Amino acid sequence: MVFTCRQCGSCCMYLGDYIVIERQTGPFTFECCSVSTDTTFTAEVDPDKRHLFPDTTFPERHPSACRFLRPDGDLVRCTIHRDSPAQCKFYRCTVMRVTDPSGKPVGTVTGTLALHSDNPALRKVWEVVERLRPGPDADAERWIAVFLQERGYRVD
Ligand code: SF4
Ligand code: SF4
Repeated sequence: MVFTCRQCGSCCMYLGDYIVIERQTGPFTFECCSVSTDTTFTAEVDPDKRHLFPDTTFPERHPSACRFLRPDGDLVRCTIHRDSPAQCKFYRCTVMRVTDPSGKPVGTVTGTLALHSDNPALRKVWEVVERLRPGPDADAERWIAVFLQERGYRVD
């Protein structure tokens, strides 16, 4: 289960108050603060995204979004991917996509190991997962995948 970010931008749409630009120091360089950890960092817009950054239509339309987010065709991308804070780099919105034995997608599991599903059968199985699984770490992730697979679910 390797998480692949689809670059949809959803997770960054309300982070404008958390990733704050304190000062612009050059055409593409900024002194910033990651408010949740109270850490400052220097960010330079990635060279391959400099053609996207100057168009401010997106941040003007989405005032709550992180100031570094920009649309790029069908994607909505972080323009400081190289310099973004650790919590951005390691964020995983979804760690599992669950498909039932008939091949129907029935739910997703978030990076915090919470189930998003309106499928009654899977929700019932999840009640058992919640009771039995080990602590919230990589072991738990593997344990949950095996538990679901043993009950006929496919886990990607
Ligand atoms: S981490 Fe998830 S929500 Fe955020 S951009 Fe990637 S796919 Fe979208
Ligand atoms: S720095 Fe990049 S990854 Fe982090 S919130 Fe902003 S756009 Fe998203």
